[in-house]
Amino acid sequence: MNQCKGASVVAGVAIGPLYFYQRPERCYDMTPCEDAAAELERMEQARQQSIAQQKVLYEKALAEAGPDIAAVFDVHALMLEDDEFVETVKENIVSHHMRAEYAVRCAAYAMVDRFAEVDDEYMRARVDDIMDMARGVIYLLQGGVEEAVWDEPAIVVAEEFTPSEAVQLDKKYVLGFVTHLGSTISHTSILARSMELPALVKCKEVQPEWAGHLAILDGLEGRLIVDPDVDTLVKYRRIQEEVVHRKKLLRRLKGKPNETMDGHIVKVMANVNKLEDVQAAKDNDAEGVGKFRTDFLFVGQNSDPDEETQFNCYKELVQAMKPQPVLLATVDWASAEPARYLNITKEEVTEISSRGIRRSLMDPAKFRVQLRAMLRAAAIGDVRIMLPMVTNVKEVQYTKDLIQECRQELAREGIPAGTMQLGIVIETSAAVWIADELAKEADFFTIGTNDLMQYTCVVDRNTMEDIPFADPYHPALMHAIYETVKAGHRHGIPVGICGEMGADTALTEHFLRMGVDGFSVNPAMILPLRNAIRDLDLREPASPVPVWNENK
Ligand code: PEP
Ligand code: MG
Repeated sequence: MNQCKGASVVAGVAIGPLYFYQRPERCYDMTPCEDAAAELERMEQARQQSIAQQKVLYEKALAEAGPDIAAVFDVHALMLEDDEFVETVKENIVSHHMRAEYAVRCAAYAMVDRFAEVDDEYMRARVDDIMDMARGVIYLLQGGVEEAVWDEPAIVVAEEFTPSEAVQLDKKYVLGFVTHLGSTISHTSILARSMELPALVKCKEVQPEWAGHLAILDGLEGRLIVDPDVDTLVKYRRIQEEVVHRKKLLRRLKGKPNETMDGHIVKVMANVNKLEDVQAAKDNDAEGVGKFRTDFLFVGQNSDPDEETQFNCYKELVQAMKPQPVLLATVDWASAEPARYLNITKEEVTEISSRGIRRSLMDPAKFRVQLRAMLRAAAIGDVRIMLPMVTNVKEVQYTKDLIQECRQELAREGIPAGTMQLGIVIETSAAVWIADELAKEADFFTIGTNDLMQYTCVVDRNTMEDIPFADPYHPALMHAIYETVKAGHRHGIPVGICGEMGADTALTEHFLRMGVDGFSVNPAMILPLRNAIRDLDLREPASPVPVWNENK
């Protein structure tokens, strides 16, 4: 059994043999051409033929993948008619005596150079479109391309796929895509997504000798497993069935409001730990990111992530989720592994006295870097900041002062900064008891039940299952949640739940009866939760509060 990692584009599972797609790269004749007029004529014929071909590809893409992808071929046609491009090709032939193929290729590179100067990943990804367009003309000049054929459905592996190549593949025979290069926002990735084909990009370790071998494309975890053993195969067949079931559920829920039968609207967002999880949040129809643990940016690093690194990460997240909100939690060291560069032990890091917002405030220079990056991301979309482990009002006020200072600093430097709502994670008993005071300082509350439980019931959240008498449905916890909701609402702010309990559908009814306004849960739990919400009718008599593991 072999494995390699990749970036997941579609969170599905495909099982089948690997087929290696080979792009027909051909050599160009780079000797000078003697008959420029004949070369111009060849080029013009191929260009016109290619424009006509784009229309065919447009129709195919429209039928298979929808208007967004089909638009790519409109763009190709426009590029083929672009005066600057056409003039450059002609000049290459007439003045530089290039043959048509080479002239087209050089003109495409000139166009690419113009795009590559733009400092925007989306624009840079369009470079692929230019090369795709040029390749189409060149193939025509060289007599066309033979169709790739294989005789059974397979996971198709390629160095990279252009949209034209992807659209031209016979989808009856494609179980999924794996590419060495590519990006999760390339057109081919968008195509895979709209066709719900499991796909991995940046899968660099695929070995050619695996051609024909049975493989599992795991788009949930971002890996390719080659020659799986029987247990793995059985496990993934089961996962595949679950994915199909979820897809059906999603289709049923897609676009429908998260509303109980009696009309309570509930917000359901996703907890996201890494950028790679964003796709899962989107695939499950999340109404935003309800908690982004920024800790992962620091974990395992040799030095602090600087402002630019943090900003780029938040920006990518915001752009991916737009127009939905993104709630960025400031670092909470205890939920992170110790950062290597801090040179401190795990015990020191998890020492409860220096967690969450307190620890951030103990190192204002470092905290400012994070706040500046967040404010900059807020200029791009709906960014909200949430403060973990708050225990007193001063922590919130100091943070607000720091935010204000950072905002002024950015203004002086002429760097755009946006406004961001400020929320408090209610996850300490202290915060519950002073929730009325905290609510005056906040735009929203979100309840971190994982920590609230461990500090209320004195159980380590990581080993709670093994602790006698530990009860995640403990009445004290339920009271704490209810009191927090009431305090928030007394001050007119919404109250959500971002801890694991929010995903426990046995509790959904009780949380909604308490007045909880929304949930942020692991992406995999979004659909079951949405389903549970839509099945509820709060006009019915209340069900009894569940009792945790009665046999314990
Ligand atoms: C929580 O404590 O419930 C929470 C959501 O925060 P974390 O799990 O990141 O500590
Ligand atoms: Mg917490």
